[in-house]
Amino acid sequence: MAFVELKDIWLRYGGTEGTLALKNASMSVRDGEFVAVVGPSGCGKSTLMKAVTGLWPPTRGEVTVAGSKVTGPVGIVGMAFQNSVQLPWRNTLDNIMLPLEIVEPHASRLAAHKAEYVAKARELMGLVGLTGFEKRYPWQLSGGMQQRASLCRALIHEPKLLMLDEPFGALDMFTREELWGVLQDLWMSKKPTVILVTHDLREAVFLADRILVMSARPGRFVAEYNVPFPRPRT
Ligand code: ADP
Ligand code: ADP
Repeated sequence: MAFVELKDIWLRYGGTEGTLALKNASMSVRDGEFVAVVGPSGCGKSTLMKAVTGLWPPTRGEVTVAGSKVTGPVGIVGMAFQNSVQLPWRNTLDNIMLPLEIVEPHASRLAAHKAEYVAKARELMGLVGLTGFEKRYPWQLSGGMQQRASLCRALIHEPKLLMLDEPFGALDMFTREELWGVLQDLWMSKKPTVILVTHDLREAVFLADRILVMSARPGRFVAEYNVPFPRPRT
């Protein structure tokens, strides 16, 4: 069964004269699948992410996630972007735990689970190689380390769906390739469904089960490729 389903989505920014970003975009992502979305700059990839996460309702068509129609921000989603920002007044551990405060806004209940949440954050930090950096502030971390923290933050509330929009776009080639391995480890450990937007075909081939290609704006899906060779998946 499809975990994420878009049926003939149209999305126009602004009124009737506004930019048509998506036109007849349809896609279907299976539970646990890792899908990469590629396409020319400005074709509507970020717009697609906004539609799936409920941050921007489509003008026409329907989005369903986990069998429910998306009508507003979706709680079971974790997100990371190219310029994911860590709050400068919080250390890395507290930045990673931020989504928990949104999912669980009652301070007393949050406090009651504090030890459990800290353990969870430390586990994720271990998986991405950030152990020992819990008390560092964002400006004390390299760009690559900040993106490692962003991946942890995206996963702290155990989302079923992980949405990544050019998460490594701002990094140099070596750091980027290092983080592919990190993301793969996270995926194998937590098994969320992943939708990854990227400009980097090598990244798509390295990480994804399936690559969806979008047309130039207005974006729609024009091709798809199954990544043929088997990768370690335990
Ligand atoms: P991509 O992520 O593929 O580069 P986007 O989804 O960001 O493309 O943008 C698709 C089109 O929609 C572009 O023409 C862009 O300028 C336009 N667009 C994006 N966001 C907005 C917005 N908030 N308001 C108006 N137009 C927008
Ligand atoms: P990344 O590959 O995550 O971008 P870098 O190549 O910038 O990391 O840094 C390599 C290593 O140097 C890191 O794994 C970390 O151990 C150490 N390092 C980087 N920045 C700092 C810092 N501000 N304080 C202490 N150690 C750092």
